[in-house]
Amino acid sequence: MYILGTKQEVTNNLQILRSSNKTVGLVPTMGALHKGHLELVKIAKQYSDIVVVSIFINPTQFNNQEDFEKYPKTLDKDLELLNKAGVDYLFLPETTEIYPSRPILSIDFGHLDKILEGSFRPGHFNGVGIVVSKLLNIVKPHTVYLGQKDLQQVAIIKRLVQDLSFDVNIKIVPTVREEDGVALSSRNLRLDPASRMAARIISKALFFAKSELLGSSPWLSIRKKVNEMFESEPMAQLEYFELVTSDTFYVLEDIGEDKSVSICAAAYFGDVRLIDNVSIFD
Ligand code: AMP
Repeated sequence: MYILGTKQEVTNNLQILRSSNKTVGLVPTMGALHKGHLELVKIAKQYSDIVVVSIFINPTQFNNQEDFEKYPKTLDKDLELLNKAGVDYLFLPETTEIYPSRPILSIDFGHLDKILEGSFRPGHFNGVGIVVSKLLNIVKPHTVYLGQKDLQQVAIIKRLVQDLSFDVNIKIVPTVREEDGVALSSRNLRLDPASRMAARIISKALFFAKSELLGSSPWLSIRKKVNEMFESEPMAQLEYFELVTSDTFYVLEDIGEDKSVSICAAAYFGDVRLIDNVSIFD
């Protein structure tokens, strides 16, 4: 695996491959890699000739300085995992390479960045939109691989690509979970053992709510039961638990005709914030 630190190095290495008709796949990450990231790499290797992974902890998408400073960093292990996974290039830029100056551009995603993650993490999706635009412009991949784990981010990036006519395909990879149901996340590394145990409540509540919905229970009574589940887990603090349309993120009062709906949740375990989601008809 070649490690590229600058935009120029990326251009020098990838231009020649693109002109020989090789397809390039990009897996953008913030490092502290786990099996979820590796699944993206695996799928990328199936669909793209050349796989580029980026590791960049993007400061502009953190609305909380402490979360940014405490974001897990495991670069040596990441390199080992990526090498083993057969990644061709790692783009590992310094912050100044991506942000020679602080951007004055800001991206307003309308309704999409005003609810759930957008409302609890103001400015987050502006930072995501800017960094993803930069990575797409630098790497110029044919396909970008994204995890369903960050469903609202997927919706945001789909709109970004559509509205700005980025010439890239988007491939979504299903969420990879631990055996006990917890979605893999770099932030899980920050959980102490008791919080890690407690974190099971998110996926438990999501799968419970999904099966109740499929059994035709009304959403309001499901939500009440979910709130009670969280109230009986003192280590967890539920932030939101909502039924939404999967692409447009409109909050629903109940399942209607729409066949593309998901439940999204966020909860704190101490100062660690985790998110997860399930789609209802998959
Ligand atoms: P991150 O490093 O957290 O920014 O994530 C990089 C990419 O990996 C994003 O597209 C995430 O949605 C995806 N990802 C993170 N966790 C998982 C998971 N458990 N399963 C599948 N994809 C994931």
